[in-house]
Amino acid sequence: MATMHEIFSAYQSRLSDLEASQSTNPFAKGIAWIQGRVYPIHEAHIPMLDQGFLHSDLTYDVPSVWQGRFFRLDDHLARLERSCEKMRLRAPLSRPAIKRTLCAMLARSGIQDAFVELIVTRGLTGVRGLSADEVANLSNNLYMFIVPYVWVMSPEVQLAGNGSAVIARTVHRTPPNCMDPTIKNLQWGDLTRGMFEANDRGAGYPFLTDVDVSEPKGERQSDVNITEGSGFNIVIIKDNTLYTPRKGVLEGVTRQSVFDCCTRLGVPYVLDKVPLRMAYEADEIFMCTTAGGVMPITQLDGKAVGDGKVGPITTRIWDVYWRLHYEEEFSFAVDYEDERG
Ligand code: PLP
Repeated sequence: MATMHEIFSAYQSRLSDLEASQSTNPFAKGIAWIQGRVYPIHEAHIPMLDQGFLHSDLTYDVPSVWQGRFFRLDDHLARLERSCEKMRLRAPLSRPAIKRTLCAMLARSGIQDAFVELIVTRGLTGVRGLSADEVANLSNNLYMFIVPYVWVMSPEVQLAGNGSAVIARTVHRTPPNCMDPTIKNLQWGDLTRGMFEANDRGAGYPFLTDVDVSEPKGERQSDVNITEGSGFNIVIIKDNTLYTPRKGVLEGVTRQSVFDCCTRLGVPYVLDKVPLRMAYEADEIFMCTTAGGVMPITQLDGKAVGDGKVGPITTRIWDVYWRLHYEEEFSFAVDYEDERG
């Protein structure tokens, strides 16, 4: 990538500074906020009787901070609010209060490149079964934490251009009418199984389809579509056009950034069903997520994607994607000194 070395070496040097501060700042490894109190990340605990933990009755979101700037924070908070509404949850803090709290936490931690997680749970129950009315009336909890930036695909793999994926055969994506994938959720049973399968087959990442591909080949195979993977959206590039699923996936904020990159670069993109065969015939493939950005895949099911190298369109999108992190339209700087004071 044109700017990959530059971006990663500046990041490594900020990371070294952060690591040097960890012996004196108890929050530099991470900071958590639970019911109005902050804790060093390793001292933070969730109460055992929170329905979020007991029933995965929660939603969450993950914004990021890059070089001291929150990236698309309002887009993440808007999606969290939509998810809460669909789940009949209410975050106990308003959006401005959440933003103020996150900025203060970030300043206290000194972390410049951050993975930020907000989780809204149903709240605490007693130790007995609850009626739907009682569940609806629980007071919902918010948990927030900030840790150093997390990479779904490490900088080393991105630099080497050797990201590999498989089409999962042992599991397919939970159907949208069972769990609405536009609600960011932690019912990761299918995604975790997919990760184990990818690892067993010597690859880094699973791509899940919408129906079972393990069945004997037959008519149905032509109806199989790509959905998403363990924490990322999937983008296929064919004949200079991007294709990514319209439905059955999380509407990723990074995916939106990819569309913004396309608009800027004059590259067309299509949101529609993405048949499985398109993945096998792709010129280029990448995955995208907040924790890692635009992540090239050059091997699928053990075979080269295109010529087996990171392709020219992925490269251009990668560069613009990281540039957006410094633009006022998409990001704002946190004043670490002012927030700490
Ligand atoms: N799909 C799933 C299942 C995810 O968990 C995620 C992120 O965690 C994404 C897609 C990408 O979403 P975003 O770009 O908003 O981080």
